Amino acid sequence: MQPYRNLIGGEWVGTSGVMNINPSDTGDVVGEFARATEADTLDAIAAARAAFPAWSSTTPATRGTILRSASTLLMARREELGTQLSREEGKTLAEGIGEVTRAAQIFDFFAAETQRLAGESLASVRPGIEVTVTREPLGVVGIITPWNFPMAIPAWKIAPALCHGNAVVFKPAELVPASAWSLVSVLQESGLPAGVLNFVNGPGSVVGNTLVNDPRVDGISFTGSVATGQRIVVAAASRFGKVQLEMGGKNPLVVLDDADLDIAVDCAVNGAYFSTGQRCTASSRLIVTRGIHDRFVDALIRRLEQLTVGHALHEGTEVGPVVNDSQLASNLTYIDVGKAEGAHLAFGGEVLERLTPGYFMVPALFTGATNDMRIAREEIFGPVACVIEARDFEEALHLANDTEYGLASGICTTSLKMASVYRQKAQAGMVMVNLPTAGVDFHVPFGGRKRSSYGPREQGRAAAEFYTSIKTAYTLP
Ligand code: NDP
Repeated sequence: MQPYRNLIGGEWVGTSGVMNINPSDTGDVVGEFARATEADTLDAIAAARAAFPAWSSTTPATRGTILRSASTLLMARREELGTQLSREEGKTLAEGIGEVTRAAQIFDFFAAETQRLAGESLASVRPGIEVTVTREPLGVVGIITPWNFPMAIPAWKIAPALCHGNAVVFKPAELVPASAWSLVSVLQESGLPAGVLNFVNGPGSVVGNTLVNDPRVDGISFTGSVATGQRIVVAAASRFGKVQLEMGGKNPLVVLDDADLDIAVDCAVNGAYFSTGQRCTASSRLIVTRGIHDRFVDALIRRLEQLTVGHALHEGTEVGPVVNDSQLASNLTYIDVGKAEGAHLAFGGEVLERLTPGYFMVPALFTGATNDMRIAREEIFGPVACVIEARDFEEALHLANDTEYGLASGICTTSLKMASVYRQKAQAGMVMVNLPTAGVDFHVPFGGRKRSSYGPREQGRAAAEFYTSIKTAYTLP
């Protein structure tokens, strides 16, 4: 089998590499992917630097045409690429196709955005002088992505980078190279000049680390864990590189006494368990006020009993496998931790056998949890949620904000007043009312506070903050 290769300076390079395994069926090899080395990464950075001057001077229309072509190709191939994505990551086929569709929408948005690049012209405080404020591309951008959204996260970083005229070196998570490779090949097919987008698939400790420390890389956009983000910001800041980090979450979903029970249960199931709970915006803390607590828990358990867990590509599957063996082991450890801390395992939490050998587990629900337990404080990143009972709205709000993270925060209520107060007081970058905490639009800012995010927001027009540098010019005509 010929390995999928890396793209450096417009050439596909690399030989034997790592096998990519289907988590729904570990006997199924998705492909072999060439492993980039430190030398490959240095070559990729050099290629991006060489391509940057010409690319940053192209007209917005030229860049827009390429981005729109990528959008069209992704849309046309969404079933095929969605299947590939579900096969390598384990989310359901509907979620996989949905993610490729989202990537296509993002490229379409930034294709249009190329036509709206604007600056400001202001009157000076000094007589006779003209002042303009314009944005210029940052330069060479290193893009480092996690495994849980193998197509959408690369898309929402690469599309704005190219829209604003930057050259890119892209390193995906080694666990999910197939979607990343497909995205890069679609962009290549769309007419990107050689060297503008370089693809280096390899370990974070080698490829990622080289990107972060190289002074020729003007900015690093990273999504992943807090621990890696922390290392990256320290290293990049020491050489004054620009950094944007999107990291973890321990997102609360508050359910008030007056909530519509069906909506609240839907929000909890979707937010906590869909995509196997492997979303940074997953609502892993369900904070429920006393008057609805028992009814909510009963209804949620009834719904969990009906959830179909299985092979990501099989019809009817609602929750696919965990991404790999170490993530499954980590989830199971948290089940033991929760029990040892005194929470009640009300549902699930055990390994599940299916027809194919895969990393399946029954979605788990703890009740009787308190907010100081590890299962309520640490990001588990699996289908594990805990219910924390609150006296009233004030206590629920306090508990929701009592976390080191601040990505998404949700509330289910029929009270406009409570919803409005929650929206104002929630210490999070994104607030959802009567909606799951996971699931966002692509044309508005995405990001959080506290340990969830660092640096400018991603997506929508806000993406310009990271991918451009502002220039203020004064002219005396
Ligand atoms: P990791 O932090 O382990 O990895 C993220 C990326 O960083 C991978 O590509 C990894 O490479 C790379 N990396 C690892 N070490 C280094 C290093 N020393 N220098 C540079 N790069 C490095 O996270 P996961 O992939 O496990 O993703 C899960 C995490 O991502 C969760 O905590 C989740 O919350 C977070 N996440 C946040 C989102 C958000 O927008 N806030 C969205 C999605 C996920 P490799 O793995 O190939 O070695």
